[in-house]
Amino acid sequence: MLTETPDGLYCPAGDFHIDPWGAVPRALITHAHGDHARIGSAGYLCAEPCAPLLRRRFGPDVVVESRGYGDAFTLGSTRVSFHPAGHVLGSAQIRLEGAEGVWVVSGDYKRAPDPTCLPFEPIACDTFVTESTFGLPIFHWDATADVIHELIAWWDDNRSLNRSSLLFCYTLGKAQRILAELARVTDRRVLVHGAMMSMLDAYRTAGVRMADTSPLIELPRGTSVAGELILAPLMARGTPWMRRLGDFSDAFASGSMRVRGTRRQRNVDRGLVLSDHADWPALLATVREVGASRVLTTHGHPEPLARYLAGQGLETGVIRTAWEGEASAQGD
Ligand SMILES: [Zn+2]
Ligand SMILES: [Zn+2]
Repeated sequence: MLTETPDGLYCPAGDFHIDPWGAVPRALITHAHGDHARIGSAGYLCAEPCAPLLRRRFGPDVVVESRGYGDAFTLGSTRVSFHPAGHVLGSAQIRLEGAEGVWVVSGDYKRAPDPTCLPFEPIACDTFVTESTFGLPIFHWDATADVIHELIAWWDDNRSLNRSSLLFCYTLGKAQRILAELARVTDRRVLVHGAMMSMLDAYRTAGVRMADTSPLIELPRGTSVAGELILAPLMARGTPWMRRLGDFSDAFASGSMRVRGTRRQRNVDRGLVLSDHADWPALLATVREVGASRVLTTHGHPEPLARYLAGQGLETGVIRTAWEGEASAQGD
């Protein structure tokens, strides 16, 4: 059903690629993160709520078509449909049905609840292509409410010390999830880096309820941000933008913060273990649930997961991508 090519996964029967890193005639896209949606293809097809995000990333001249979740359509001799993956707004698994049975390509997914997107839908299949960004037994996530509680406690500590709280997080998905979770428990406003405005606006346009935000850059000069929470992408680090912060404590929200070595390497005061990917137990539970006899692993740590599943009697394989180990850090 799918073959590996230099541009990425290709479906000959339907004549399309899935999440190609090369420029191809027709790209089916699981979601708008940079390691799955690359500019340069002639046409893109994605789930409906993903389309506005792709247009913002790629600009208005790129051809983006979309289909509703669950709406099956035909490409060549293949029946295709998108199904919610619970990863970020518009994220989808892609179900393929043809002569070689039913295949599901998960894209990135998680099983933890997320107020910004539809929950992952388990789809029965013969072959399951699963991400393995956190495909090691050391990765397991705490309940989101506990992590948000930890975030607010850190913010309050910094407030009492008259410091600002600088939280690094990914611009697409993680920032919105944090702001949506905060809106449930506080009505405080949150300051954000200007690079986050476009995707925040896209989520608001899609009807996602989040904490109020203002761009830090629009505060009048000389305004103190002591006591404020500020969200910024990692790329803001060390830029002149940081001068507005005064005395601050910093943190990074990512599943990778589970590992002490990564925390030290990122050199932040706090690691907030909050991920938009399935942890190890969720990967195993999902494989069981979809009932596939063959599982192909990809992204992040594909070998350890494939090895474990092979030990459970499943037929397994690894799909190589440009996004392995540390390079798989998009939106983690
Ligand atoms: Zn992703
Ligand atoms: Zn990814």
